[in-house]
Amino acid sequence: MRILVLGAGFGGLEVTSRLSEEFGDDVDIVLIDKAEGFVFGFSKLDVMFGKALATNVRHSYADIVKPGVRFVQTTIRSIDPAAKRVETDAGTFDADLLVVALGADLHPNATPGLVEGGHEFYTVAGAFALRDVLAEFPGGRVIVAVCSTPFKCPPAPSETALLLHDLLTSRGVRDKSSIALVMPMGVPIPPSPAASRALLTAFAERGIDWHPDQLVASLDASRKVALLADGSEMPYDLFLGVPVHRAPDVVVASGLAVDGWIPVDPSTLQTSFPGVYAVGDVTSVGTPKAGVFAEGQAIVVADALSAIIRNDVSSTRYDGRGMCYLEFGDNQVARVDVTFLSGQAPVGDMDGPSIDYVADKVDFGSSRIQRWFGREWSST
Ligand SMILES: Cc1cc2nc3c(=O)[nH]c(=O)nc-3n(C[C@H](O)[C@H](O)[C@H](O)COP(=O)(O)OP(=O)(O)OC[C@H]3O[C@@H](n4cnc5c(N)ncnc54)[C@H](O)[C@@H]3O)c2cc1C
Repeated sequence: MRILVLGAGFGGLEVTSRLSEEFGDDVDIVLIDKAEGFVFGFSKLDVMFGKALATNVRHSYADIVKPGVRFVQTTIRSIDPAAKRVETDAGTFDADLLVVALGADLHPNATPGLVEGGHEFYTVAGAFALRDVLAEFPGGRVIVAVCSTPFKCPPAPSETALLLHDLLTSRGVRDKSSIALVMPMGVPIPPSPAASRALLTAFAERGIDWHPDQLVASLDASRKVALLADGSEMPYDLFLGVPVHRAPDVVVASGLAVDGWIPVDPSTLQTSFPGVYAVGDVTSVGTPKAGVFAEGQAIVVADALSAIIRNDVSSTRYDGRGMCYLEFGDNQVARVDVTFLSGQAPVGDMDGPSIDYVADKVDFGSSRIQRWFGREWSST
């Protein structure tokens, strides 16, 4: 059984690790990614706000040594889901079972003026470059804004505004600064009223201006003005944006995507092509685009593939559950649990914020690096 896993992010690493753990050298997995290594989304914020070094948060794929797994660093150029065949810069790969875990591509250029007049903090390069920008910012009007939907990790812009408040305060320039947060939702985390209430209170206490139900459509770089989707304008000195997200072009060209993303059976993650599964940000499964959901879906797919290899039938079904650690700044982290079940309204709860969840968040990262890369790691 030849298994091809496309993309070594949260989803691809989890599927691969589980199958290797169960079958060892009895399985033939090729894991493909164009990147040199993996970076957690939350590590982007850690580097941006000077809490971690860029060199400590990159996890090189060259370190993956797993029985039955071959990692190939190359760019995927085409996917034929009917033939389960993939063309790459390193040649052609054929599979019996195919897992597409290629995530969402980010397009800063798709928002007019963003590259010329602002910064984005969602790509690795963009977030890492902001470290020096924030360290030297003399104070002024800052906008943290989402430029389109859907976008990964819906809590990240709120966390960014709160961490920015701390950084500007510690640098002694908060008094001469304003922070505005522009978000497309009515509340910061819609499935969790408790988390939304806590965030709105934290914004009010810190003087962060909350602008709900809005998107920034473009920037006028020469006037340093953000143009909102409703036609209004907001002047800024520093703009931190969440860029446009799209499924990778190779996915769209493959015929797997419908309306931009890959539709899957919400309980099995199977696509409409037999033997082809998709997990994580590249799907339209109905959960937010976040690593914990990609990982939960990967567990279901690993069980399904394992059952096929054993000539059995998997009874594991996706439960739509996810948990994330929410940074409030000032060394306070909350735990937010949410459930998105197909056909039902999402529900969620929050515990904290407290200092106790700081250690839990570190454990969350180090346990994944241990499982995926087989080595110790601490984000701090
Ligand atoms: C600032 C920020 C903070 C975040 N914080 C959190 C958090 O605290 N918790 C959480 O759960 N999530 C968080 N996220 C979201 C999380 O990073 C993503 O949702 C998650 O990585 C999605 O996993 P995935 O496996 O679907 O895709 P990804 O992890 O994006 O992996 C996709 C992989 O496919 C590869 N790829 C794409 N196209 C090709 C191609 N043509 N050829 C070869 N390889 C290709 C990419 O290089 C990439 O490695 C955060 C995101 C950001 C930006």
